[in-house]
Amino acid sequence: MTDTILYIVVPCYNEKEVLRETAKRLKEKIYTLSDKNLISKESKILFVNDGSKDNTWEIITSLHEEDKVFSGVCLSKNRGHQNALLAGLMTAKNYADVVISMDADLQDDINAVDDMIEKYSEGFDIVYGVRSSRKTDTFFKRNTALLFYKMMNLLGAETVYNHADYRLMTKRALEGLAEFEEVNLFLRGLVPMIGYKTTTVEYERAERFAGESKYPFKKMLAFAIDGITSLSIKPITLITRLGLFISCISLFALIYTLIKYFLNQTVLGWSSLMASVWLLGGLQLFAIGIIGEYIGKIYKETKRRPRYIISETLI
Ligand code: UDP
Ligand code: MG
Repeated sequence: MTDTILYIVVPCYNEKEVLRETAKRLKEKIYTLSDKNLISKESKILFVNDGSKDNTWEIITSLHEEDKVFSGVCLSKNRGHQNALLAGLMTAKNYADVVISMDADLQDDINAVDDMIEKYSEGFDIVYGVRSSRKTDTFFKRNTALLFYKMMNLLGAETVYNHADYRLMTKRALEGLAEFEEVNLFLRGLVPMIGYKTTTVEYERAERFAGESKYPFKKMLAFAIDGITSLSIKPITLITRLGLFISCISLFALIYTLIKYFLNQTVLGWSSLMASVWLLGGLQLFAIGIIGEYIGKIYKETKRRPRYIISETLI
């Protein structure tokens, strides 16, 4: 067990307020674990700078100079949390036996790391950190998040409830992940597809230690749409069914109006006509929109653009 090299991967975007504190706590964690002989002395913390506009990378560089337990990867520009995390995981996979990913803001209880390591030693390849409560999230965040999970599952994207990107993965699980080449990244939907023995550990989610959320509502919505459309084609199936259903109804409506016509009972229903025109127009636009989303995805995938470019590495 002692020779197990652990890497903790932390994506950072404009995190100058929290970075030093996070670094301090993670370093303590790594040292206590290696003192207990649970992990190797070569274990490290890998910060990924996701094109921050503040001095996040300077802080990472100076941390690395102070102590080699800190390592860093700098992306050429801001690519978003998922891509930054992937960059970190793919880098860490080359050095580590087991990797844990977490956010920079200390919202994920770092004591769950001990439980994750224990599960790893029991032979699990993937350990999901699951929030036991969301007491500290705002009312808005909590409910939009709940809606998000509900919708995801309803639309056929399998995800682990209340699990964000706080998880442990072994080298071979990461090698599995590397086989997925999609550009539209939604890691918590992909990881369950890798397989192997998986389990969960619970933790309490705290408030952001400092700084503010880098996920405003707009980004969250985009993330949700991305999640659904990159994992499931159910929305398209739904459109087809809805179309079929409406066509059936309109057939009945046609028969009904014909009967009324021959019975000389036609009423001039201008308003209902207008209403249905609007409704159908709306439905059609919505349907075209969803199909467009998928075509957009296909367009992006066929280009095979790199998901991130690393400009500097400090190991
Ligand atoms: N993050 C990132 N790139 C981005 C946005 C966020 O690497 O474009 C990182 C951020 O530094 C943090 C993690 O992703 O470590 C989660 O972001 P945040 O805590 O702001 O999201 P929330 O917890 O509010 O959902
Ligand atoms: Mg956060």
